[in-house]
Amino acid sequence: MADRHNRDIDRPLAPAPKPLPVPTVDAHAHLEIVTDAAPDSDAVRKVLDDAKAAGVDRVVQVGYSAEQSKWCVAAAEHFNDRVLAAVALHPNEAPIVADMDADLKIIEELATHPRVRAIGETGLDYFRTPPELRKRQQDSFKWHIELAKKTNKALVIHDRDSHDDVLSILQEVGAPETTIFHCYSGDAAMAKICIERGYILSFAGTITFKNAPELREAVKLVPIDQLMAETDSPFLSPMPNRGALNVPAQVATVIRAMAAERGDDLAEFANALSANAERAFGKFN
Ligand SMILES: [Zn+2]
Repeated sequence: MADRHNRDIDRPLAPAPKPLPVPTVDAHAHLEIVTDAAPDSDAVRKVLDDAKAAGVDRVVQVGYSAEQSKWCVAAAEHFNDRVLAAVALHPNEAPIVADMDADLKIIEELATHPRVRAIGETGLDYFRTPPELRKRQQDSFKWHIELAKKTNKALVIHDRDSHDDVLSILQEVGAPETTIFHCYSGDAAMAKICIERGYILSFAGTITFKNAPELREAVKLVPIDQLMAETDSPFLSPMPNRGALNVPAQVATVIRAMAAERGDDLAEFANALSANAERAFGKFN
C-alpha cells in the first residue's frame, strides 16, 4: 500500500523498544496511515497497546485533510483515555484541494470538539510546493494560526525548507500562546530564535540520523520545558531501524536519544516531556 506521498508503507516493524521508566506521550502520529483501518478498530487499539507497553500511554493524532481530520476526532472520541486530536489542512494539501474554503469550514467546525486540542499540522513546505502555489499555502497557514488563537488551542507547525518564512509569518500574524514546531528541522541558530519566542520544539526520529548533527546540537540548547518528542508515525523510524514502519512505541527510542544527547536522567526527562505535553494539550483522559 502507498501513503499519500506514494511511499510504500508495507514495511516491517522495528523491534519493540525497551520500555521507558515512566509513562509519556507521542506528540505527533498518523495512526490512520500506520493501520489503514477504522478509527475505532482493533488495529488501532493494538498499536496503542504496544505503545503503552513501551511506556507511551498517550498519543496525539494529527490532521492533514478535512476528511482525515474527521478520522482524528473519531479516534480521540473512541480512545478517550489516551488519544487527543489535532485538525488541519496539511501545507501539502492546502494548495491542491478542490475547494479550500469548504475544507477549511469543516476544519473550523471540528476544531470546536472538546477532544481537539491543537490546530495542525499546518505551516509551509517549500520542498514539495512549487513557487506558484506558495501564496495559497501561506494563506492557509495564516488562517490556521488565527483559528488556533480563536479557539485557544495549540498550533502544530510543519516546516520543511521554509524556516525563514514560517518564522516571519508567525511574527506578522502573531503566534498562539502554544506554538509547536513538529519534527523540528532547524539548526542551533534557529532554535535560539524559537526558544527566545517561547515556542516548543518537538524532536522526531531524525535526531538519531547520521546526517543530522545540527539537530543534536539544537536539542542541547532547549530549556526542558520547551521540548517535546514525537514519532510522526509511520514516517521517520529512528535508527537503527531507519526505513521500518514507525509506530508510537518508538518515541521511547527518540526520548532515549534526546536524553543521552543532553546528559539528562531518562526518567526525569520523560516525566518533563509528559508534563509539557499536558500543559500544551491538556489532559488525555
Ligand atoms: Zn505529521
